Amino acid sequence: MSENTPHRGQAVVVKHTGSHYLLSRLPEWDLFPAVLRGKVRLKGSVATNPVAVGDVVDYIWEEGMSVIERIHPRRNYIIRRSANLSREAHIIAANLDHAYLIVTMAFPETKLAFVDRFLVTCEAYGVPVTIVINKSDLLDEELQQMALSFKDIYAGAGYEIMEVSAKTGSGVDGLRERLRGKVNLFSGTSGVGKSSLIKALDPSLELIRTAEISSAHLQGRHTTTFYEMYPIAGGGFVIDSPGIRGFGLVDFKKEELSTYFPEMLRVMDSCRFAPCTHTHEPGCAVKAAVEEGAISADRYYSYLGMLEEENKYR
Ligand code: GDP
Ligand code: ZN
Repeated sequence: MSENTPHRGQAVVVKHTGSHYLLSRLPEWDLFPAVLRGKVRLKGSVATNPVAVGDVVDYIWEEGMSVIERIHPRRNYIIRRSANLSREAHIIAANLDHAYLIVTMAFPETKLAFVDRFLVTCEAYGVPVTIVINKSDLLDEELQQMALSFKDIYAGAGYEIMEVSAKTGSGVDGLRERLRGKVNLFSGTSGVGKSSLIKALDPSLELIRTAEISSAHLQGRHTTTFYEMYPIAGGGFVIDSPGIRGFGLVDFKKEELSTYFPEMLRVMDSCRFAPCTHTHEPGCAVKAAVEEGAISADRYYSYLGMLEEENKYR
């Protein structure tokens, strides 16, 4: 972009730090900085951040800089609810083709409640999701067993599961193949190996992991984490979301929650009552399926936990 005359264009936000944005005209990787005009906001958005990584924007280039003028409506997005009991939410990434939740069987240990929260968020916002077990090289007999029951639970619920090792490269080619031509979110708690995996997918990438910082006006109650998109050799993009602690849904109805558990959605038509919360109601098909072992008890407990938590926000 060497012309000096003002011009307009369309691009995707690939990085966001404070009030600065990096844009690229995907699938090209022609990074250029941009700023946001104060009044640009997506109508009806509950988010504390007006623009997220993955957003498609219109910009105008004038007087030596690009200014974001408009945000295109989002196809989907993933949010994180603020840690306090407010309804504020932070959009982590928008317009995702696929999400990959990276987990490990140990170091760090994976909490099923965390996994379920993430999966529910993906279901609610219409993002296809795959679970990736990393550090497969560390699976001894005991951890193998743990991986088997983990796969039982989530394959049973209808999710796709992959096993990889960023260290040995096992399974990495298959994953790279899956990412091709898509915008993919990598998520998972800190230490599961997201950066190692991105490096294994494309060793030429320079990963600059920006440390977590608190945004000045929300200090103490809200931590802003920076998300960044990387181009992967062979095509495709990965959005790295460092150290996510909690996902949450905003504004969902209690009766809706079970529809975000695919295995519950499949049987809930047979519940005697509609709507059914699958807690105290007689003739509940979901509870029956849990008792028969057709629905994992762990998943059901996660569901109850989320229902309970939602009560706190009311
Ligand atoms: P992130 O916080 O999710 O980005 O995790 P990192 O990529 O920084 O990895 C955390 C730690 O796990 C580092 O010490 C990595 O070397 C290690 N690690 C990552 N992937 C693997 C793997 O596949 N096998 C083994 N054994 N260690 C791994
Ligand atoms: Zn029911």
